[in-house]
Amino acid sequence: PLVLGIESSCDETGVGIVRGHELLANEVASSVELHARFGGVVPEIASRAHLEAMLPTLERACAEADVDLTEIDAVAVTAGPGLMGALVVGVAAAKALAYALGKPLYGVNHLAGHVAVDLLEHGPLPTPSVALLVSGGHTSLLLVDDIAGNASRKEGGRGIVELGATIDDAAGEAYDKVARLLGLPYPGGPVIDRAATGDPRAIAFPRGLTSARDLERHRFDFSFSGLKTAVARWVETRERDGLDVPLADVAASFQEAVCDVLSAKALDACAATDARDLLIGGGVAANGRLRALLAERAAEAGVALRTPRPGLCTDNGAMIAVLGTEVILAGGRPSGPELGADSSLPVSRVLV
Ligand code: ATP
Ligand code: MG
Ligand code: FE
Repeated sequence: PLVLGIESSCDETGVGIVRGHELLANEVASSVELHARFGGVVPEIASRAHLEAMLPTLERACAEADVDLTEIDAVAVTAGPGLMGALVVGVAAAKALAYALGKPLYGVNHLAGHVAVDLLEHGPLPTPSVALLVSGGHTSLLLVDDIAGNASRKEGGRGIVELGATIDDAAGEAYDKVARLLGLPYPGGPVIDRAATGDPRAIAFPRGLTSARDLERHRFDFSFSGLKTAVARWVETRERDGLDVPLADVAASFQEAVCDVLSAKALDACAATDARDLLIGGGVAANGRLRALLAERAAEAGVALRTPRPGLCTDNGAMIAVLGTEVILAGGRPSGPELGADSSLPVSRVLV
């Protein structure tokens, strides 16, 4: 089917068009610069930006794919999780479009979209696979038995199961907060990624939830708020002692602490579930060090690593279009006209 996907859960307005696993268009308009001076996304500004960007982005996607809207077979839209005021703009646009075209509408899960986007790069996902989802608002390890999740009619399928998640900050949030305390601009992830040219072993920052005791209860969980505090303390102490802050070393050491834990737990999850394939998704999956460390450790463990190109890791409409496609192929039922947004939709609910 030819599926159009609409994404508006945070600060990116995305419209993607896919046919099966073929990517035809992926247009993204970001309001990130409008939020930069506030050091984080301002919900009201994001909603307004979505309103303004939605139609132009839709038009650009159709032009890029060289398709007329009347050719579309279905419309998929992010129904959650995300910012309520941002989500409702996408959902309203998708409803209007589906209704006007007389085509079915599918409200789908943003986080499952971050996982599904890899199908556009590497084709069907062997099951079970493990997915490491690392974004601005979420950090979790998922067992993916069926990407269509609750939409699937497959007997006894486990869908998407959360093995563990962060108990405090998300990985992207840690990057953004540490960037801020280092005086670097928002969003901090890509900035720290580029600034981390120093020695990753210069400073021994803590690896959250990795002690033998923590592993008993939190084997697949993460914690990054202690790390953020440790970086803040370290910088404060240097400044109090009148010493300079070696940015390249601090950034590299912080990044190493994050990526070491993420990659170690991801491969442990593969071992525990007998998954031979590991995929990564979400904005932090664009991180250079994370990709390199995972590649190293996956090769050692004999696990196949699936990494989407960085531009597909951050929020976009193609991930929603391809997830919608999987839902349709699995026999999922269209969402009704009463479809609403759910800001805290759990990842196991792929189709609303
Ligand atoms: P969620 O998907 O949980 O709702 P979100 O959609 O806001 O959150 P994404 O757009 O997937 O999150 O990712 C944005 C996050 O990714 C930001 O925190 C940003 O700093 C981080 N990020 C982007 N590029 C990189 C990078 N190269 N290295 C580390 N972090 C990065
Ligand atoms: Mg964003
Ligand atoms: Fe996201």
